Amino acid sequence: MSSSSFESTLIAEKEYLEKLKYGLNKAQELAHIGHWELDLLSGTLFWSDEVYRIFGLVPQEFGATYEAFLEYIHPDDIELVNKSYMDSVSQKRGYHITHRIIRRGGTIGFVEERCEHEFDKDGNVTRSIGTVHDITQQKIAQHELMLASEVFAKMNDGIVITDAAQKIIKVNEAFCKISGYPAEELYGQTPKALSSGWHNHEFYAMMWESIMSYGYWNGEIIDRKKNGELYTAEINIIALHDDEDTLTNFISITNDITNKKQQEDLIHNLAYFDSLTSLPNRVLFQERVMSRIPFMKRNKKKMALLFIDMDNFKNVNDTLGHIMGDKFLVEVARIIKATIREQDTLARLGGDEFTIILEDVESLIEIIPIAEKIIKLFSTPIIIEENKLYTGASIGISIYPDDGESYEELVKAADTAMYQVKESGKNNFQFFKQEMNDKLTERIKIENNLYSAVANNELFLVYQPKVNLDTDSVYGMEALVRWKHPVHGLIQPDKFISISEETGQIYEIGLWVAKQAFHDTKLLHDAGDMLTVSINVSSKQLENSHFIQDICREVSEAGVDIKYIELEITESHIMSNIDKALIILNELHAIGFKLSIDDFGTGYSSLSYLKKLPAQTIKIDRSFVLDIEKDEDDRTIVATIIAMAKVLGKDVIAEGSETQGHVDTLKYLHCNKIQGYFFSKPIVINEFKEFIRNF
Ligand code: C2E
Ligand code: CA
Ligand code: CA
Repeated sequence: MSSSSFESTLIAEKEYLEKLKYGLNKAQELAHIGHWELDLLSGTLFWSDEVYRIFGLVPQEFGATYEAFLEYIHPDDIELVNKSYMDSVSQKRGYHITHRIIRRGGTIGFVEERCEHEFDKDGNVTRSIGTVHDITQQKIAQHELMLASEVFAKMNDGIVITDAAQKIIKVNEAFCKISGYPAEELYGQTPKALSSGWHNHEFYAMMWESIMSYGYWNGEIIDRKKNGELYTAEINIIALHDDEDTLTNFISITNDITNKKQQEDLIHNLAYFDSLTSLPNRVLFQERVMSRIPFMKRNKKKMALLFIDMDNFKNVNDTLGHIMGDKFLVEVARIIKATIREQDTLARLGGDEFTIILEDVESLIEIIPIAEKIIKLFSTPIIIEENKLYTGASIGISIYPDDGESYEELVKAADTAMYQVKESGKNNFQFFKQEMNDKLTERIKIENNLYSAVANNELFLVYQPKVNLDTDSVYGMEALVRWKHPVHGLIQPDKFISISEETGQIYEIGLWVAKQAFHDTKLLHDAGDMLTVSINVSSKQLENSHFIQDICREVSEAGVDIKYIELEITESHIMSNIDKALIILNELHAIGFKLSIDDFGTGYSSLSYLKKLPAQTIKIDRSFVLDIEKDEDDRTIVATIIAMAKVLGKDVIAEGSETQGHVDTLKYLHCNKIQGYFFSKPIVINEFKEFIRNF
């Protein structure tokens, strides 16, 4: 070989080596794989450029020794790296590990290391050659993927992934739980499989329009589970596109909010609806009225407010118990609801009070048929569990804006009108009138004045004779109270007795009546007129636990013989709580008082109860006497009462006998005891004495 050819060979070889070195470096850079060599004899460590790059180092900074190398290993992995190397040397084999490194800047990287050894003829390791593969990117990607799939699997929200044709290709566990479908049954289907039929076509059209134009939709949807049950879900739907902007997938994220919805509904219902009848309650009623007022005002419209109070509800509750009372109210609500239009609101304010809002009334004439219809509906008894419950509706009506422009004014006006109906015999309807307000004012005045009536000696008694037709004699008298107010003059009991019952003042008044009546009777007895005196006792008095003790004290203080004292108790009072009434009436009877059932025929007592009552006398209500000559029905009722009394061995007296005709008819029906204007109006005691002297 010539020197020139040697030289050229040398140059060619050098070029070749350069190329090789460059190629190796480039290859290492592209593959993220560097290599190193450790010469165990000289202790020198060689790193390729790529290894330096992987460790984030430059050759000048790194004193290339094995120990220096260990400094760049993640502290938790040092032992692994060191042990792997040492073991491989002692066991004379290669190794392959993955570990973390800490780059110069402090960032963590992942590397895969492989190593092989060279040996001398004795088999001792002389050189180690290894590769370092930077797998940080893969690790990160892998980790992210793992996180994503973990999230996908463990998320509480249901996830559905479809392809571009909406075919379901992946669902997570949560979605299977929400929908009740196993994943396999969903794959290949479209989400339409879950449709509940709840939403209309427009709903879905709008949803898709949003997904297609914004790539996104969010809203509440009602879908159907595999078992048919509906569920409410909050759903996010996202359209996914690839780099070329081609639609590839839809992802929907489903959050089952059925429970939340139900709770919200429950809270809403508790706050706004009556739990017994499911009607709007007072709060919602008020809200509705208040929210409609501005509308009515703007459009110059009228609105009517009907205030309905059921008659006899207390009776039902007291005699049949609260469970029947509740059933009664539910039935009443159902009946009223059926009479009104869809747009009208029926509410229950509590107890037996209902209200109706009639919107958009043109004239008052429209309201009358509705009120009449309701009243007519209750003219037949309500039958609940074979009990015939007689009721009636008292309806007060106020009009916006005529009777008030605020909720409070309207309710007060309707309530006042309703109260007026109650006063004038119940079971009717009334429009509010200004005079009613005056009446209300009067009532308040009476109530206030009544407090001092007894103390100021403003009460006095009148007596009405009771005549026995058989013996043609006066055998008794009923004491009736009057009130002579220093300013307002004479006030009749129907003006103040019911008020005093409501306020409790009746108790004091009743005791005063007893004292006065017993005193007057004693004087009559002393003069030889052995008449029975009757006093009226209301249930409010009987309910007072001191009543027996107090009335007995009056008897003994007056020194009158108890067998000449009769207590008149109205039938409806007895029937409103028959069991309680029986206890106290039996007690009074045992003490020696005579008892009479007043206003008989109006309180629905049954024969079986009547038999148990310790009353000696039944007093036929004057409403049956009034038309007894003309009205066949009334006559039949009176005849029946008389026959019934005879069977039970009780006495009968008819009150309200005003005419000869009344008296004759009653006599014909074998009612021989009579009280009424025909013989005398109630008169003061001195006149009464005069009356019996001349009888
Ligand atoms: P009542 O117990 O039914 O009393 C009979 C009422 O009928 C009395 O009215 C009497 O004046 C009236 N009356 C008597 N005869 C006739 C008649 O022929 N025709 C007509 N149309 N009416 C007649 P008054 O005195 O106004 O009493 C009304 C109610 O006030 C009584 O009804 C009674 O429930 C109550 N009341 C009166 N005084 C007392 C009392 O001292 N205590 C209690 N708790 N209530 C009383
Ligand atoms: Ca009476
Ligand atoms: Ca009566």
